[in-house]
Amino acid sequence: RASRSFHPQNSIIDVSGVKVGGKKLVVMAGPCSIETPEQIHTVAQAVKNSGASLLRGGAFKPRTSPYSFQGLREKGLDMLIEAAKDVQLPVVTELMSADKIGTFLEKKVDLIQIGARNMQNFDLLRAVGRLNVPVLLKRGLSATIDEWLMSAEYIMSEGNQNVILCERGIRTFEKATRNTLDLSAVTVVKRRSHLPVIVDPSHATGHRWMVEDMAMAAIAAGADGIMCEVHNDPEHAWCDGAESITPETFDHLMGRLRQLAPIV
Ligand code: PEP
Ligand code: MN
Repeated sequence: RASRSFHPQNSIIDVSGVKVGGKKLVVMAGPCSIETPEQIHTVAQAVKNSGASLLRGGAFKPRTSPYSFQGLREKGLDMLIEAAKDVQLPVVTELMSADKIGTFLEKKVDLIQIGARNMQNFDLLRAVGRLNVPVLLKRGLSATIDEWLMSAEYIMSEGNQNVILCERGIRTFEKATRNTLDLSAVTVVKRRSHLPVIVDPSHATGHRWMVEDMAMAAIAAGADGIMCEVHNDPEHAWCDGAESITPETFDHLMGRLRQLAPIV
């Protein structure tokens, strides 16, 4: 179902009125994690002013260490939804476990993110496949393109055809970057699949100074948009500060992206 042979035209996924995969670029921006009502409001307002299409923010965080901040969970989700309502942006946030699906539906999450670490959690994929909510499927840390597309297939085979793919870098021997951004995967997926593909230059690089250039490169490679981490005070972010850009840098990036294509 994810294959272009099954569906020759590009799919356009409607996320609460925001069309992903059409002629315009989509930009999802916001902090790695929701921290306080003030923080998420500040960032939401800033990215809205700069023209972002969706607000991102993690409430349920898949952290490597169980002793790291795990996200504000339901409380964080409430803060995200409220901030998004104030600035009138749809939200994207990560679902880590099927037992929170009821909460996500109740809070009307516009786009459900399946994180890299859950890309092959097949029961979770099947569960979101039975929903009527679009899904953002991130590429697994060490997943091949075939495995990634098969995960999309798990979702789509249950009925939900509204899948957006997100390249977020893969594990390689290279240590200069957190992951290795596989831009050729964008080109491969665009050829093999009709699904929209976006790129996350934040998690792919781990360094805020690389985010702008890699975002531009992603669009040049054919991506339908980007997802990036923006924080009002990156030095003190509770999670992923090193790769988070300031609202000022985000505004600058939006200006550069607009030179390539209009933003939704
Ligand atoms: C995220 O986007 O918040 C995240 C945890 O990303 P990934 O699953 O790609 O590591
Ligand atoms: Mn992050």
